[in-house]
Amino acid sequence: MTAWPDMSSPAVLVVPVGSYEQHGPHLPLHTDTTIAVAVATRVASALGAVVGPPLAYGASGEHQDFPGTVSIGTAALTTAIVELGRSASTWAGRVVLVNGHGGNVAALRAAVAQLTAESRDVAWIPCATGDGDAHAGYVETSVMLHLAPHEVRMSHAEAGNREPLERLLPALVAHGVRAVSPNGVLGDPTGATAEAGAALLAEMVDRATAAVHSGWTG
Ligand SMILES: [Zn+2]
Repeated sequence: MTAWPDMSSPAVLVVPVGSYEQHGPHLPLHTDTTIAVAVATRVASALGAVVGPPLAYGASGEHQDFPGTVSIGTAALTTAIVELGRSASTWAGRVVLVNGHGGNVAALRAAVAQLTAESRDVAWIPCATGDGDAHAGYVETSVMLHLAPHEVRMSHAEAGNREPLERLLPALVAHGVRAVSPNGVLGDPTGATAEAGAALLAEMVDRATAAVHSGWTG
């Protein structure tokens, strides 16, 4: 546990930013939050930082056609991050947001720009790998098999739309994920393994930690 006298200033606070949205028939709705918490926890320990509780709802409007998805949208998420940053930076010298969901990027960019304009040391970093599929595919399924195997239904895992995200994005933004992938998967989770997930998670942590050391990315 952490109590207020433990927070020597200037501390670094790391906050995971996730989502609550469909992740195909085989992964839980909180997949992005679970991955963001795992990356944030490891980055925080590498930095000697404090990790806060996650923002577990994000901007997931593109997944709204699937039941289970709960989105607060970009405007509300932007406001939440701005207020979180203002509050935390009264005692934390730095605030690092670790993002697990691509749909949150517009809010993160806007909020970090606002906070930076207020001279607060706040940045965001993604949970990124060099390459890999976009949503509920090989990458996320492997990482979840490593982190929470009891929460993955591999018997339900099936390929979705495997087109590159850049090519899908216009239709996805205009019509939602369901229009381009009826099962909600962008990629192919069928070959996912826990071993691959451990390596992918380590890569996410290395990239995020390097980004913090080399200067802010967000
Ligand atoms: Zn995800």
